[in-house]
Amino acid sequence: MLRKTLLYLSHQPQIFRFVRNNGLAKKFASRFVAGETIATACDAVAELKAKGITASLDLLGESVTNEAEARETARQYLALVDEMQRRGLEVNVSVKLTALGQDISAALCEENIRAILAKVKGYGGFVRLDMESSAYTQRTIDFFERRLFPDYPETVGVVLQSALRRTLADVDWSVQKQCRVRICKGAYLEPATVAFPDKRDVDANYVEAMQRLMQKGRYPGLATHDERIIDEAIRFAKANGIAPDRFEFQMLYGVRRDLQERIVREGWRMRVYVPFGTQWYPYLMRRLAERPANLAFITGNVMKE
Ligand code: FAD
Repeated sequence: MLRKTLLYLSHQPQIFRFVRNNGLAKKFASRFVAGETIATACDAVAELKAKGITASLDLLGESVTNEAEARETARQYLALVDEMQRRGLEVNVSVKLTALGQDISAALCEENIRAILAKVKGYGGFVRLDMESSAYTQRTIDFFERRLFPDYPETVGVVLQSALRRTLADVDWSVQKQCRVRICKGAYLEPATVAFPDKRDVDANYVEAMQRLMQKGRYPGLATHDERIIDEAIRFAKANGIAPDRFEFQMLYGVRRDLQERIVREGWRMRVYVPFGTQWYPYLMRRLAERPANLAFITGNVMKE
């Protein structure tokens, strides 16, 4: 119930206007969001680098409704990757196609993402297309497969969500194509027609997808904070002779930092997804929905590191 309410609130812009000016909400946001500028975002990446953790930077924003905004998002991504390169940071970004105009026109979205890919390729970097709600899954996969992957096989990858019933078929598609996949559970509220309503099924599907990707996929990103699943991945890698450079764990900025550091200490690769920018409200509400206990932070309690 609380999860549903928080996810509902994540779509209410008038609430964002209210919380944006609220000091407490901003303080809470700073735990999960690396500031509002390219400079603060790059600082966070440099700090992680010093701990042996790589990063993927995400300029917060989704579902733009006019062309100027979509072009501005692309322009900011270009400035971002230039700055990462200038500061000697690995160039790795995550983007939402709706922020680049996917809902306006496929041609606009393609022009924007191609400009980013061309520059990132020149820097030897990588662009991950985040996956949004199930309304976008097929569109995103088709766009990726037909328009981007043929020209940028080393530079672009997609995300699959174990909450969706279709995902094992998509995993097999990715294995056959040898394209890079991030597997996550899925952050969106989905109908039972397309997604598993029971969390145990989502988790079991994650493990199956993860094992297929680890064994036969191309450098998968295992995005989860679920310690039981992470331990299973480590057991599976050891049992099957899968070397630490064949995959990476991925977590969100500010979440389970203890576990992030443990993974690095044990010799596995760890990448942190670092969101930044002014549009932090929907992102933050999804993080709260995942773990309503985080609300305690707002009321003054201390959260688990
Ligand atoms: P859960 O079962 O939700 O959580 C397992 C444990 O992790 C919890 O018990 C808790 O201890 C801890 N935990 C989880 N979330 C939090 C939190 N917010 N705060 C504190 N502790 C927490 N989703 C998409 O739909 N599309 C994407 O493109 C996408 N990209 C992602 C990229 C990365 C790198 C990561 C880590 C997640 C991404 N997600 C994405 C979100 C993902 O789908 C889940 O919503 C989110 O990761 C929570 O699921 P979990 O695997 O951590 O497992």
